[in-house]
Amino acid sequence: MKTEIEFPETLQNAFEFFGNEDNAFAFMVGLRWPDGVSCPRCGSGEVRRISTRKVWECKNCVFLKQFSVKVGTIFEDSPISLGKWWCAIWLISNAKNGISSCELHRTLGVTQKTAWFMLQRIRLALQNGSIVKIGGHVEVDETFIGGKARNMHKGKRKVNGTGPVAMAPVMGLLERNTGKKASRVILKHVDTRKKGELQGNVREYVLKGSEVHTDALKSYEGLSDEYTHNVIDHAECYVKGHVHTNGLENFWSLLKRTIKGTYVSVEPFHLFRYLDEQAFRFNERKDEDGDQGRFMKAVAGIFGKRLRYAALIGQELQTPALPA
Ligand SMILES: [Zn+2]
Repeated sequence: MKTEIEFPETLQNAFEFFGNEDNAFAFMVGLRWPDGVSCPRCGSGEVRRISTRKVWECKNCVFLKQFSVKVGTIFEDSPISLGKWWCAIWLISNAKNGISSCELHRTLGVTQKTAWFMLQRIRLALQNGSIVKIGGHVEVDETFIGGKARNMHKGKRKVNGTGPVAMAPVMGLLERNTGKKASRVILKHVDTRKKGELQGNVREYVLKGSEVHTDALKSYEGLSDEYTHNVIDHAECYVKGHVHTNGLENFWSLLKRTIKGTYVSVEPFHLFRYLDEQAFRFNERKDEDGDQGRFMKAVAGIFGKRLRYAALIGQELQTPALPA
């Protein structure tokens, strides 16, 4: 029989609560799959829990049937326990002046190298508003933001700004909507449109095995080792069946309309702060929310959706009960 533990309100409670891996696991499952577990690779809900382990098997997928709650998240490729991750997020979201890897190392009892890695990952996730990689059908494209670039042909734009207005290259990765889930976008400031940088972002943010749609830019050649890579050559046409980047094109024009007038000439630094807001609506954290509130907002931000505290703190935490 498990003892009831209150969902934590203080740092000490949080460490007790998440110190129990079953709690940390149940919390993650409740967050990730509030409507029931589904396969992170194909989205199918026809999954079966492997009774002795914290693993599921998809009935639909042919290869790679098994998955854990970490698959396709920033937690995936690390042996760090979920409990330690939640404690780290608790600490980071409640540290008024930020937290150093040294402090994290001492508080969590992990090596400093591990602490540094965790910090990088969590900051990235907070900034991107997502802990879960995007997948399914993903459109990838770049654009330039900045006063002078707006009316110029894409191929003629230069990255380096002349005069007061710098043109900032932005890469977008858009996950198309699937039945339940609305589409979402990750925006990255890039320095160049070279292969290493663009493909690096695709591999970092897009779940392997997804269908990636790009234009015919040479920098995207070679993605087919890990993805189904669909190329639409804009010199020929813009749509070929389901192969297109129209979702992103629409996003770009919406974004540019929103920016127009306000950000005609802004420093890239401010521009990207603004882009983050636009893309992820990452909410401000208010002091009156308390430690638990800030933690939940951070988690909600990371997951890219607003979560009802009650739903998480209440029944859904207990739903994915573990077999003894
Ligand atoms: Zn599947």
